[in-house]
Amino acid sequence: MAATLGTGSLESICEGLRSGDLSSEALTQVCLDTIQNQDPFLNAITSTNPGSSLGLARAADIRLKKGERGVMLGIPVVLKDNFHWTGLPVSNGSKITRSYIAHYDATVVKRLLEAGAIPIAKANMDEFAMGSSGEYSAFGPTRNPWDLSRVPGGSSSGSIVSVAAGYAPFALGSDTGGSVRLPAGFCNVTALRPTYGVLSRYGITAMASSLDQVGPVARTASGVAAGFSVMTGRDALDSTSIDLPGTERLVGLKPASLKGLRIGLPKEYFGEGLDPAVRSIVENAVGVFEREGASIIDISLPHTSYAIDTYYLICTSEVSSNMSRFDGVRYGARKPADSLADMMAETREQGFGEEVKRRILLGAFCLSKGYYDAFYLKALKARTLITKDFLEAFEKVDLIATPVSPDVAFPIGEKTLNPLAMYLADAYTVTTPLAALPCLSMPGGFTNGLPVGVQLIGPALSDVNLLEAAHAFQQLTDYHLQTPPNLN
Ligand code: GLN
Repeated sequence: MAATLGTGSLESICEGLRSGDLSSEALTQVCLDTIQNQDPFLNAITSTNPGSSLGLARAADIRLKKGERGVMLGIPVVLKDNFHWTGLPVSNGSKITRSYIAHYDATVVKRLLEAGAIPIAKANMDEFAMGSSGEYSAFGPTRNPWDLSRVPGGSSSGSIVSVAAGYAPFALGSDTGGSVRLPAGFCNVTALRPTYGVLSRYGITAMASSLDQVGPVARTASGVAAGFSVMTGRDALDSTSIDLPGTERLVGLKPASLKGLRIGLPKEYFGEGLDPAVRSIVENAVGVFEREGASIIDISLPHTSYAIDTYYLICTSEVSSNMSRFDGVRYGARKPADSLADMMAETREQGFGEEVKRRILLGAFCLSKGYYDAFYLKALKARTLITKDFLEAFEKVDLIATPVSPDVAFPIGEKTLNPLAMYLADAYTVTTPLAALPCLSMPGGFTNGLPVGVQLIGPALSDVNLLEAAHAFQQLTDYHLQTPPNLN
Protein backbone atom coordinates (compact mmCIF):
# COMPACT_ATOMS: atom_id res chain seq x y z
CA MET A 1 0.00 0.00 0.00
CA ALA A 2 1.17 3.51 -0.75
CA ALA A 3 2.85 5.26 2.16
CA THR A 4 0.73 8.38 1.65
CA LEU A 5 -2.76 9.12 0.38
CA GLY A 6 -1.26 10.92 -2.63
CA THR A 7 -4.01 12.04 -4.95
CA GLY A 8 -6.33 9.31 -3.70
CA SER A 9 -9.84 10.68 -3.75
CA LEU A 10 -12.34 9.87 -1.05
CA GLU A 11 -14.29 7.70 -3.49
CA SER A 12 -11.29 5.59 -4.54
CA ILE A 13 -10.34 5.10 -0.88
CA CYS A 14 -13.92 4.10 -0.13
CA GLU A 15 -13.72 1.57 -3.00
CA GLY A 16 -10.48 0.17 -1.58
CA LEU A 17 -12.05 -0.26 1.85
CA ARG A 18 -15.12 -2.00 0.42
CA SER A 19 -13.12 -4.41 -1.72
CA GLY A 20 -10.87 -5.28 1.20
CA ASP A 21 -7.70 -3.98 -0.55
CA LEU A 22 -7.38 -1.47 2.27
CA SER A 23 -8.15 -1.69 5.95
CA SER A 24 -9.28 1.36 7.82
CA GLU A 25 -6.70 0.65 10.52
CA ALA A 26 -3.80 0.62 8.02
CA LEU A 27 -5.20 3.71 6.30
CA THR A 28 -5.57 5.56 9.59
CA GLN A 29 -1.99 4.65 10.48
CA VAL A 30 -0.79 6.05 7.12
CA CYS A 31 -2.65 9.29 7.83
CA LEU A 32 -1.20 9.56 11.33
CA ASP A 33 2.31 8.87 9.95
CA THR A 34 1.86 11.54 7.30
CA ILE A 35 0.91 14.03 10.00
CA GLN A 36 3.99 13.09 11.97
CA ASN A 37 6.27 13.51 8.95
CA GLN A 38 4.76 16.63 7.40
CA ASP A 39 3.35 18.64 10.22
CA PRO A 40 6.65 19.94 11.61
CA PHE A 41 6.74 21.90 8.31
CA LEU A 42 3.09 22.82 7.92
CA ASN A 43 1.81 23.26 11.50
CA ALA A 44 -1.74 22.32 10.55
CA ILE A 45 -2.52 20.11 13.54
CA THR A 46 -3.12 21.03 17.17
CA SER A 47 -3.80 17.62 18.71
CA THR A 48 -4.26 13.93 17.92
CA ASN A 49 -5.39 10.87 19.85
CA PRO A 50 -3.91 7.94 17.89
CA GLY A 51 -5.13 5.30 20.35
CA SER A 52 -8.74 6.36 20.05
CA SER A 53 -8.54 6.86 16.25
CA LEU A 54 -7.02 3.42 15.67
CA GLY A 55 -9.66 1.88 17.94
CA LEU A 56 -12.41 3.50 15.86
CA ALA A 57 -10.69 2.26 12.70
CA ARG A 58 -10.66 -1.33 13.98
CA ALA A 59 -14.37 -1.03 14.76
CA ALA A 60 -14.97 0.27 11.22
CA ASP A 61 -13.04 -2.67 9.79
CA ILE A 62 -15.38 -5.04 11.61
CA ARG A 63 -18.41 -3.24 10.17
CA LEU A 64 -16.84 -3.39 6.68
CA LYS A 65 -16.16 -7.12 7.04
CA LYS A 66 -19.81 -7.63 7.93
CA GLY A 67 -20.69 -6.07 4.58
CA GLU A 68 -21.74 -2.57 5.69
CA ARG A 69 -21.38 -0.06 2.87
CA GLY A 70 -21.56 3.54 4.11
CA VAL A 71 -19.63 6.15 2.09
CA MET A 72 -17.77 7.41 5.15
CA LEU A 73 -17.25 4.04 6.82
CA GLY A 74 -13.55 3.79 7.76
CA ILE A 75 -12.62 7.18 6.25
CA PRO A 76 -10.15 9.32 8.27
CA VAL A 77 -11.28 12.90 8.86
CA VAL A 78 -9.72 16.02 10.41
CA LEU A 79 -11.76 18.47 12.51
CA LYS A 80 -11.13 22.17 12.91
CA ASP A 81 -10.27 22.92 16.52
CA ASN A 82 -13.56 24.69 17.19
CA PHE A 83 -15.54 21.42 16.89
CA HIS A 84 -16.29 19.41 20.01
CA TRP A 85 -15.03 15.83 19.87
CA THR A 86 -15.20 14.17 23.28
CA GLY A 87 -11.91 13.83 25.09
CA LEU A 88 -9.82 16.18 22.97
CA PRO A 89 -9.17 19.87 23.55
CA VAL A 90 -11.31 22.46 21.75
CA SER A 91 -8.53 25.04 21.67
CA ASN A 92 -10.15 27.39 19.14
CA GLY A 93 -6.55 28.33 18.32
CA SER A 94 -6.56 30.40 21.50
CA LYS A 95 -4.54 30.53 24.70
CA ILE A 96 -7.75 30.97 26.68
CA THR A 97 -9.17 27.56 25.66
CA ARG A 98 -5.94 25.74 24.87
CA SER A 99 -6.57 23.16 27.60
CA TYR A 100 -10.37 23.09 27.46
CA ILE A 101 -11.48 19.49 26.89
CA ALA A 102 -14.68 18.60 25.01
CA HIS A 103 -17.10 16.50 27.02
CA TYR A 104 -19.58 15.92 24.20
CA ASP A 105 -19.62 15.61 20.41
CA ALA A 106 -20.84 18.29 18.03
CA THR A 107 -23.88 17.02 16.08
CA VAL A 108 -21.92 16.84 12.82
CA VAL A 109 -19.09 14.97 14.58
CA LYS A 110 -21.62 12.58 16.11
CA ARG A 111 -23.13 11.94 12.69
CA LEU A 112 -19.69 11.34 11.15
CA LEU A 113 -18.88 8.89 13.95
CA GLU A 114 -22.17 7.08 13.46
CA ALA A 115 -21.37 6.78 9.76
CA GLY A 116 -18.08 5.14 10.74
CA ALA A 117 -15.71 8.01 9.89
CA ILE A 118 -12.48 8.17 11.89
CA PRO A 119 -11.54 11.54 13.40
CA ILE A 120 -7.74 11.56 13.46
CA ALA A 121 -6.78 15.08 14.48
CA LYS A 122 -7.88 18.58 15.44
CA ALA A 123 -6.73 21.30 13.06
CA ASN A 124 -5.02 24.63 13.61
CA MET A 125 -7.07 27.77 12.92
CA ASP A 126 -7.14 31.52 13.33
CA GLU A 127 -8.11 32.27 16.91
CA PHE A 128 -11.86 31.71 17.36
CA ALA A 129 -12.11 31.59 13.53
CA MET A 130 -11.29 35.29 13.19
CA GLY A 131 -8.87 35.77 10.33
CA SER A 132 -8.22 35.11 6.67
CA SER A 133 -4.69 33.75 6.65
CA GLY A 134 -4.16 31.09 9.32
CA GLU A 135 -1.63 33.31 11.10
CA TYR A 136 -3.69 34.42 14.12
CA SER A 137 -3.32 31.25 16.17
CA ALA A 138 -1.85 30.67 19.61
CA PHE A 139 -0.19 27.63 18.00
CA GLY A 140 1.63 29.75 15.42
CA PRO A 141 0.92 30.12 11.71
CA THR A 142 0.01 27.24 9.42
CA ARG A 143 1.96 27.09 6.15
CA ASN A 144 0.77 26.64 2.59
CA PRO A 145 1.93 23.26 1.23
CA TRP A 146 2.30 24.80 -2.24
CA ASP A 147 4.81 27.35 -0.93
CA LEU A 148 5.92 27.19 2.68
CA SER A 149 6.67 30.92 2.74
CA ARG A 150 2.99 31.70 2.07
CA VAL A 151 -0.21 31.56 4.08
CA PRO A 152 -2.71 28.76 3.42
CA GLY A 153 -5.62 31.14 4.02
CA GLY A 154 -7.94 31.07 7.00
CA SER A 155 -9.54 30.70 9.25
CA SER A 156 -9.90 26.94 8.60
CA SER A 157 -6.20 26.80 7.73
CA GLY A 158 -5.38 23.44 9.28
CA SER A 159 -8.46 21.64 7.94
CA ILE A 160 -7.75 22.73 4.39
CA VAL A 161 -4.03 21.98 4.60
CA SER A 162 -4.85 18.53 6.00
CA VAL A 163 -6.69 17.64 2.81
CA ALA A 164 -4.22 19.44 0.51
CA ALA A 165 -1.22 17.69 2.10
CA GLY A 166 -2.83 14.26 2.23
CA TYR A 167 -3.32 13.94 6.00
CA ALA A 168 -6.91 12.85 5.39
CA PRO A 169 -9.32 12.65 2.45
CA PHE A 170 -11.97 14.72 4.27
CA ALA A 171 -12.05 17.55 6.80
CA LEU A 172 -14.47 19.91 8.48
CA GLY A 173 -13.94 23.62 8.74
CA SER A 174 -16.31 26.43 9.61
CA ASP A 175 -17.23 29.32 7.34
CA THR A 176 -18.53 32.61 8.73
CA GLY A 177 -17.27 34.94 6.03
CA GLY A 178 -15.19 32.68 3.80
CA SER A 179 -13.16 30.50 6.14
CA VAL A 180 -13.35 27.30 4.14
CA ARG A 181 -13.60 28.85 0.68
CA LEU A 182 -10.65 31.23 0.89
CA PRO A 183 -8.11 28.61 2.05
CA ALA A 184 -9.57 26.02 -0.34
CA GLY A 185 -8.80 28.44 -3.17
CA PHE A 186 -5.28 29.06 -1.87
CA CYS A 187 -4.52 25.32 -1.46
CA ASN A 188 -6.31 23.67 -4.43
CA VAL A 189 -9.07 21.72 -2.70
CA THR A 190 -12.87 21.81 -2.87
CA ALA A 191 -14.95 23.22 -0.01
CA LEU A 192 -18.65 23.89 0.41
CA ARG A 193 -20.38 26.49 2.52
CA PRO A 194 -23.93 25.09 2.73
CA THR A 195 -27.10 27.16 2.89
CA TYR A 196 -27.30 28.63 6.41
CA GLY A 197 -28.98 26.07 8.65
CA VAL A 198 -28.31 22.97 6.56
CA LEU A 199 -25.58 21.70 8.88
CA SER A 200 -26.11 21.87 12.61
CA ARG A 201 -23.93 24.34 14.52
CA TYR A 202 -24.43 22.50 17.81
CA GLY A 203 -21.05 21.85 19.40
CA ILE A 204 -19.07 24.33 17.33
CA THR A 205 -17.73 27.35 19.19
CA ALA A 206 -19.91 30.26 18.12
CA MET A 207 -18.21 33.18 16.42
CA ALA A 208 -21.00 35.15 14.70
CA SER A 209 -24.09 33.02 15.09
CA SER A 210 -26.16 34.45 12.23
CA LEU A 211 -23.31 33.75 9.81
CA ASP A 212 -21.53 30.59 11.07
CA GLN A 213 -21.85 27.41 8.99
CA VAL A 214 -20.00 24.10 8.97
CA GLY A 215 -17.92 23.63 5.80
CA PRO A 216 -17.04 20.17 4.43
CA VAL A 217 -13.71 19.89 2.58
CA ALA A 218 -12.27 17.26 0.20
CA ARG A 219 -10.19 17.14 -2.96
CA THR A 220 -13.24 16.80 -5.17
CA ALA A 221 -16.86 17.92 -5.22
CA SER A 222 -17.94 14.29 -5.09
CA GLY A 223 -15.80 13.75 -1.98
CA VAL A 224 -17.38 16.80 -0.34
CA ALA A 225 -20.81 15.45 -1.28
CA ALA A 226 -20.08 12.05 0.27
CA GLY A 227 -19.11 13.53 3.64
CA PHE A 228 -21.90 16.09 3.48
CA SER A 229 -24.47 13.33 2.90
CA VAL A 230 -24.01 11.80 6.36
CA MET A 231 -24.29 15.13 8.22
CA THR A 232 -27.42 16.78 6.80
CA GLY A 233 -30.87 16.59 8.37
CA ARG A 234 -32.61 18.74 10.97
CA ASP A 235 -31.13 18.80 14.45
CA ALA A 236 -33.32 19.62 17.42
CA LEU A 237 -30.23 20.99 19.19
CA ASP A 238 -29.83 23.84 16.69
CA SER A 239 -32.99 25.90 16.38
CA THR A 240 -31.84 27.34 13.03
CA SER A 241 -31.34 23.94 11.44
CA ILE A 242 -33.36 23.00 8.37
CA ASP A 243 -33.73 20.07 5.96
CA LEU A 244 -32.07 20.13 2.56
CA PRO A 245 -33.94 18.76 -0.46
CA GLY A 246 -32.21 16.36 -2.86
CA THR A 247 -29.75 14.78 -0.41
CA GLU A 248 -30.36 11.36 -1.97
CA ARG A 249 -28.34 12.64 -4.95
CA LEU A 250 -25.24 13.27 -2.82
CA VAL A 251 -23.97 9.71 -2.75
CA GLY A 252 -22.56 8.71 -6.12
CA LEU A 253 -22.84 12.34 -7.25
CA LYS A 254 -23.66 12.77 -10.94
CA PRO A 255 -22.36 15.69 -13.00
CA ALA A 256 -24.89 18.44 -13.71
CA SER A 257 -26.06 18.79 -17.26
CA LEU A 258 -24.47 22.04 -18.40
CA LYS A 259 -26.58 22.50 -21.50
CA GLY A 260 -28.70 25.57 -21.07
CA LEU A 261 -27.37 26.29 -17.57
CA ARG A 262 -27.42 30.05 -17.05
CA ILE A 263 -24.29 31.28 -15.31
CA GLY A 264 -24.12 34.88 -14.09
CA LEU A 265 -20.89 36.87 -13.93
CA PRO A 266 -21.37 39.82 -11.54
CA LYS A 267 -19.38 42.78 -12.79
CA GLU A 268 -18.64 43.92 -9.22
CA TYR A 269 -16.46 40.83 -8.68
CA PHE A 270 -14.31 41.44 -11.72
CA GLY A 271 -13.37 45.08 -11.20
CA GLU A 272 -10.65 47.00 -9.43
CA GLY A 273 -8.31 45.08 -7.15
CA LEU A 274 -8.60 41.75 -8.96
CA ASP A 275 -5.26 40.25 -9.97
CA PRO A 276 -5.34 39.91 -13.80
CA ALA A 277 -3.96 36.35 -13.62
CA VAL A 278 -6.78 35.35 -11.27
CA ARG A 279 -9.31 37.02 -13.55
CA SER A 280 -8.15 35.11 -16.61
CA ILE A 281 -8.20 31.78 -14.74
CA VAL A 282 -11.78 32.39 -13.63
CA GLU A 283 -12.74 33.42 -17.17
CA ASN A 284 -11.15 30.23 -18.52
CA ALA A 285 -13.14 28.17 -16.04
CA VAL A 286 -16.32 29.87 -17.13
CA GLY A 287 -15.29 29.05 -20.72
CA VAL A 288 -15.26 25.35 -19.81
CA PHE A 289 -18.92 25.59 -18.78
CA GLU A 290 -19.74 27.61 -21.89
CA ARG A 291 -18.20 25.03 -24.25
CA GLU A 292 -20.51 22.44 -22.74
CA GLY A 293 -23.56 24.51 -23.57
CA ALA A 294 -23.96 26.84 -20.57
CA SER A 295 -24.93 30.42 -21.34
CA ILE A 296 -22.93 33.16 -19.70
CA ILE A 297 -24.84 36.25 -18.63
CA ASP A 298 -23.43 39.52 -17.32
CA ILE A 299 -25.20 40.55 -14.14
CA SER A 300 -24.88 43.18 -11.44
CA LEU A 301 -25.02 42.87 -7.65
CA PRO A 302 -25.01 46.60 -7.00
CA HIS A 303 -24.60 46.57 -3.21
CA THR A 304 -21.47 44.41 -3.25
CA SER A 305 -19.25 47.35 -2.35
CA TYR A 306 -20.99 47.58 1.06
CA ALA A 307 -20.39 43.93 1.88
CA ILE A 308 -17.08 44.17 3.74
CA ASP A 309 -18.33 47.00 5.98
CA THR A 310 -21.63 45.25 6.56
CA TYR A 311 -20.00 41.93 7.35
CA TYR A 312 -17.43 43.37 9.72
CA LEU A 313 -20.06 45.37 11.62
CA ILE A 314 -22.45 42.45 12.05
CA CYS A 315 -19.70 39.91 12.62
CA THR A 316 -17.91 41.95 15.30
CA SER A 317 -21.20 42.78 17.04
CA GLU A 318 -22.03 39.09 17.33
CA VAL A 319 -18.43 38.26 18.25
CA SER A 320 -18.45 40.73 21.13
CA SER A 321 -21.50 39.00 22.54
CA ASN A 322 -20.36 35.40 21.89
CA MET A 323 -16.90 35.97 23.37
CA SER A 324 -18.32 37.23 26.66
CA ARG A 325 -18.61 33.64 27.93
CA PHE A 326 -14.82 33.33 28.00
CA ASP A 327 -14.27 35.18 31.26
CA GLY A 328 -12.42 32.66 33.42
CA VAL A 329 -15.56 31.54 35.24
CA ARG A 330 -16.70 28.47 33.30
CA TYR A 331 -14.55 27.82 30.25
CA GLY A 332 -10.82 27.51 29.83
CA ALA A 333 -8.01 29.38 31.52
CA ARG A 334 -8.40 31.54 34.64
CA LYS A 335 -5.93 34.13 35.89
CA PRO A 336 -6.34 34.49 39.65
CA ALA A 337 -6.85 38.04 40.94
CA ASP A 338 -8.17 39.78 44.07
CA SER A 339 -11.65 40.54 42.78
CA LEU A 340 -14.05 38.91 40.34
CA ALA A 341 -13.83 41.88 37.98
CA ASP A 342 -10.03 41.81 38.04
CA MET A 343 -9.99 38.06 37.47
CA MET A 344 -12.19 38.43 34.38
CA ALA A 345 -10.23 41.37 33.03
CA GLU A 346 -6.88 39.66 33.61
CA THR A 347 -8.07 36.35 32.11
CA ARG A 348 -9.32 38.07 28.96
CA GLU A 349 -6.34 40.40 28.70
CA GLN A 350 -3.90 37.49 28.79
CA GLY A 351 -6.05 34.86 27.10
CA PHE A 352 -7.17 36.58 23.89
CA GLY A 353 -4.95 37.59 20.99
CA GLU A 354 -4.90 40.99 19.29
CA GLU A 355 -7.46 40.27 16.56
CA VAL A 356 -10.04 38.86 18.96
CA LYS A 357 -9.64 41.89 21.23
CA ARG A 358 -9.95 44.24 18.28
CA ARG A 359 -13.26 42.63 17.29
CA ILE A 360 -14.67 42.61 20.82
CA LEU A 361 -13.95 46.35 21.07
CA LEU A 362 -15.35 47.11 17.63
CA GLY A 363 -18.46 45.02 18.22
CA ALA A 364 -19.15 46.42 21.67
CA PHE A 365 -18.86 49.89 20.16
CA CYS A 366 -21.28 49.10 17.31
CA LEU A 367 -23.85 47.82 19.78
CA SER A 368 -23.47 50.60 22.33
CA LYS A 369 -26.16 53.16 23.09
CA GLY A 370 -26.02 56.06 20.69
CA TYR A 371 -24.11 54.09 18.03
CA TYR A 372 -26.41 51.10 17.62
CA ASP A 373 -28.64 52.80 15.04
CA ALA A 374 -25.78 54.34 13.14
CA PHE A 375 -23.77 51.13 12.85
CA TYR A 376 -25.46 47.85 13.77
CA LEU A 377 -28.96 48.72 12.58
CA LYS A 378 -27.64 50.28 9.40
CA ALA A 379 -25.58 47.16 8.72
CA LEU A 380 -28.71 45.03 9.08
CA LYS A 381 -30.43 47.19 6.47
CA ALA A 382 -27.48 46.86 4.12
CA ARG A 383 -27.60 43.09 4.68
CA THR A 384 -31.17 43.10 3.36
CA LEU A 385 -30.11 45.04 0.26
CA ILE A 386 -27.25 42.61 -0.43
CA THR A 387 -29.67 39.69 -0.06
CA LYS A 388 -32.13 41.33 -2.45
CA ASP A 389 -29.40 41.75 -5.07
CA PHE A 390 -28.92 38.00 -5.09
CA LEU A 391 -32.66 37.24 -5.14
CA GLU A 392 -33.06 39.44 -8.19
CA ALA A 393 -30.04 37.92 -9.91
CA PHE A 394 -31.39 34.42 -9.41
CA GLU A 395 -34.47 35.35 -11.41
CA LYS A 396 -32.14 35.55 -14.43
CA VAL A 397 -29.45 32.94 -13.75
CA ASP A 398 -29.13 29.46 -12.20
CA LEU A 399 -25.77 30.04 -10.60
CA ILE A 400 -23.15 32.73 -10.23
CA ALA A 401 -19.40 32.31 -10.83
CA THR A 402 -16.77 34.57 -9.27
CA PRO A 403 -13.17 34.48 -8.08
CA VAL A 404 -12.74 33.25 -4.49
CA SER A 405 -10.29 35.99 -3.65
CA PRO A 406 -8.76 38.93 -5.46
CA ASP A 407 -5.27 37.43 -5.22
CA VAL A 408 -3.32 34.20 -4.74
CA ALA A 409 -1.95 33.11 -1.34
CA PHE A 410 0.15 35.94 0.08
CA PRO A 411 3.49 35.74 1.92
CA ILE A 412 3.37 35.01 5.65
CA GLY A 413 3.52 38.27 7.59
CA GLU A 414 2.41 40.48 4.68
CA LYS A 415 -0.94 41.51 6.13
CA THR A 416 -0.70 40.78 9.85
CA LEU A 417 0.08 44.39 10.75
CA ASN A 418 -2.63 45.77 8.50
CA PRO A 419 -6.06 44.48 9.57
CA LEU A 420 -7.83 46.35 6.77
CA ALA A 421 -5.70 44.64 4.09
CA MET A 422 -6.51 41.32 5.76
CA TYR A 423 -10.26 42.10 5.74
CA LEU A 424 -10.10 43.00 2.03
CA ALA A 425 -8.97 39.45 1.19
CA ASP A 426 -12.59 38.52 2.03
CA ALA A 427 -14.16 40.87 -0.52
CA TYR A 428 -15.71 38.03 -2.57
CA THR A 429 -16.55 35.62 0.25
CA VAL A 430 -18.43 37.73 2.82
CA THR A 431 -21.43 38.50 0.59
CA THR A 432 -23.00 35.03 0.50
CA PRO A 433 -23.05 34.44 4.28
CA LEU A 434 -24.87 37.77 4.66
CA ALA A 435 -27.48 36.42 2.22
CA ALA A 436 -27.41 32.89 3.76
CA LEU A 437 -26.67 31.35 0.34
CA PRO A 438 -24.81 28.15 -0.51
CA CYS A 439 -21.49 28.53 -2.30
CA LEU A 440 -18.34 26.56 -2.92
CA SER A 441 -14.73 26.98 -3.86
CA MET A 442 -13.15 24.64 -6.40
CA PRO A 443 -9.71 24.44 -8.02
CA GLY A 444 -9.67 26.56 -11.19
CA GLY A 445 -6.04 26.65 -12.29
CA PHE A 446 -2.59 27.95 -11.38
CA THR A 447 -0.51 31.06 -11.74
CA ASN A 448 3.22 30.91 -10.96
CA GLY A 449 2.71 27.52 -9.37
CA LEU A 450 0.05 28.82 -6.97
CA PRO A 451 -3.56 27.59 -7.03
CA VAL A 452 -6.53 29.81 -7.87
CA GLY A 453 -10.05 29.01 -6.71
CA VAL A 454 -13.33 29.55 -8.53
CA GLN A 455 -16.43 30.29 -6.48
CA LEU A 456 -19.88 29.04 -7.48
CA ILE A 457 -22.92 30.54 -5.73
CA GLY A 458 -26.48 29.23 -5.93
CA PRO A 459 -29.95 30.13 -4.65
CA ALA A 460 -30.93 29.01 -1.13
CA LEU A 461 -31.09 25.21 -0.76
CA SER A 462 -29.48 24.55 -4.14
CA ASP A 463 -26.46 22.96 -2.40
CA VAL A 464 -26.76 19.66 -4.28
CA ASN A 465 -27.05 21.41 -7.66
CA LEU A 466 -23.91 23.41 -6.88
CA LEU A 467 -21.96 20.26 -6.07
CA GLU A 468 -23.22 18.64 -9.28
CA ALA A 469 -22.08 21.68 -11.29
CA ALA A 470 -18.62 21.56 -9.65
CA HIS A 471 -18.49 17.82 -10.29
CA ALA A 472 -19.27 18.42 -13.97
CA PHE A 473 -16.38 20.92 -14.09
CA GLN A 474 -14.07 18.39 -12.45
CA GLN A 475 -14.97 15.78 -15.06
CA LEU A 476 -13.71 18.21 -17.71
CA THR A 477 -10.56 19.50 -15.96
CA ASP A 478 -7.72 18.06 -13.90
CA TYR A 479 -6.72 21.00 -11.67
CA HIS A 480 -8.20 19.27 -8.63
CA LEU A 481 -5.89 16.30 -9.21
CA GLN A 482 -2.72 18.38 -8.83
CA THR A 483 -0.98 18.04 -5.49
CA PRO A 484 1.73 20.19 -3.93
CA PRO A 485 5.06 19.24 -5.54
CA ASN A 486 7.45 19.76 -2.67
CA LEU A 487 6.04 17.79 0.20
CA ASN A 488 8.71 16.03 2.19
N1 GLN B 1 -11.95 36.10 7.27
C1 GLN B 1 -13.26 36.32 7.81
C2 GLN B 1 -13.13 36.92 9.18
O1 GLN B 1 -12.07 37.10 9.63
C3 GLN B 1 -14.03 35.05 7.85
C4 GLN B 1 -13.74 34.20 9.02
C5 GLN B 1 -14.57 32.97 9.02
O2 GLN B 1 -15.25 32.66 8.05
N2 GLN B 1 -14.55 32.29 10.14
O3 GLN B 1 -14.11 37.19 9.81
